[in-house]
Amino acid sequence: MMIQIEQVGLTYQSPGGETEALRDLSFGIGQGEFVCLVGPSGCGKSSLLSILAGLERPTEGRVLLDGVPIEGPSPRVGYMLQKDHLFPWRTVWGNVTLGLELQHENTPERQARLRALLERYGLGEFLRSTPDQLSGGMRQRCALIRTLARDPDLLLLDEPFSALDYQTRLAVSADIHAIIRAEGKTALMVTHDISEAVALSDRIVVMTRRPGRVKSLHTLDSLWGLSPMERRDHPDFRLYFNDLWKELDVHV
Ligand code: ADP
Ligand code: MG
Repeated sequence: MMIQIEQVGLTYQSPGGETEALRDLSFGIGQGEFVCLVGPSGCGKSSLLSILAGLERPTEGRVLLDGVPIEGPSPRVGYMLQKDHLFPWRTVWGNVTLGLELQHENTPERQARLRALLERYGLGEFLRSTPDQLSGGMRQRCALIRTLARDPDLLLLDEPFSALDYQTRLAVSADIHAIIRAEGKTALMVTHDISEAVALSDRIVVMTRRPGRVKSLHTLDSLWGLSPMERRDHPDFRLYFNDLWKELDVHV
């Protein structure tokens, strides 16, 4: 799916006053591209994902998915949050099919596809297990497969690995990245981890502090086609990392 974000502004109205979250934000995402979004806390990253998910409407500008303005939530867009939000009392199968049940789309075709995804990504033996019987990585894969149940074209991921410890995060992020690639999805992922952004993205969008705009765009040309692990070993990894570090103006 192709995404055009055009001069988007978003101002929240609340009893305490107005908060301008985004201002004049523009960039595009190509079909099949994996883009990471980084920027200071509170700069509007999650707000942008809410707009793309059709949950918030921009107060200025517009967003087009394959040339069509967003009207509201769509099955073509899947949203994966930081916490996996698996229901502890439901089995793996019960969790991944929940969205289909709610949407009355629990058809044999959809079920067969889900079964194939669970098999392919190492959960075939765990259909009747509950989430507490899974490792952290298996839970994330389960959450991703649930997000894939309605076969979205665009995946939105909001700091999906931040609840995992460092070692697990390296392995799980590489896994999830491989699944998204193999399934041919377009992805926009928010992360506060610069090295994760360099390891996973085709392109990185750096946002300014609030109200968020695009500060800079980084194309990771020399790492193209490499796996996240190969990238971390590549001499240019550190160059890209340092560029981003400077852009983000991190104060300690
Ligand atoms: P980020 O994900 O980059 O940390 P957010 O998009 O969550 O930033 O928030 C951007 C700004 O908008 C923050 O100042 C936040 O407090 C504010 N904000 C987010 N959601 C709402 C809301 N529903 N109502 C009012 N203000 C909000
Ligand atoms: Mg956020």
